[in-house]
Amino acid sequence: MDEALLRAKGLKSTPQRLMALKAIHEGGHIDIDQLHASFNLSGMKVPIATLYRILGELSSVGILHTVTLSGQKTRYEIAKGDHPHFLCEQCGQLEDLNVAMNEIVTIAQHACSHSTRSVSVMLHGVCHNCSTFPLSQSEKAGE
Ligand SMILES: [Zn+2]
Ligand SMILES: [Zn+2]
Repeated sequence: MDEALLRAKGLKSTPQRLMALKAIHEGGHIDIDQLHASFNLSGMKVPIATLYRILGELSSVGILHTVTLSGQKTRYEIAKGDHPHFLCEQCGQLEDLNVAMNEIVTIAQHACSHSTRSVSVMLHGVCHNCSTFPLSQSEKAGE
């Protein structure tokens, strides 16, 4: 499936590209460190610079979508149209929200005459897991 995806975008399917796509499919939204960790786990020793290049290639042809977070590393996900995200400020978990965005776009279009190309909505808060089982200071993500 990923081979076909790469071919459709004019990219050769290489083991490294396939591994990157597999890791992102499994992780949902992952950053460069998580990607590097999955490569290491699978026994593929690939320098971070190469991973950045692969992510850049996959993003430029539209296979990947980047989610920019202030103060955190960029997350990468398989592109699937605009959707809102929920970011947990405790564990750093990024979750897709199944909420239609067209309404926001329609309202914006009516409010002004700008034409919208893409929408990004980020909700911040504490996820269900973290509010049920609060992490101790030392276990917080990114420490
Ligand atoms: Zn959380
Ligand atoms: Zn997402």
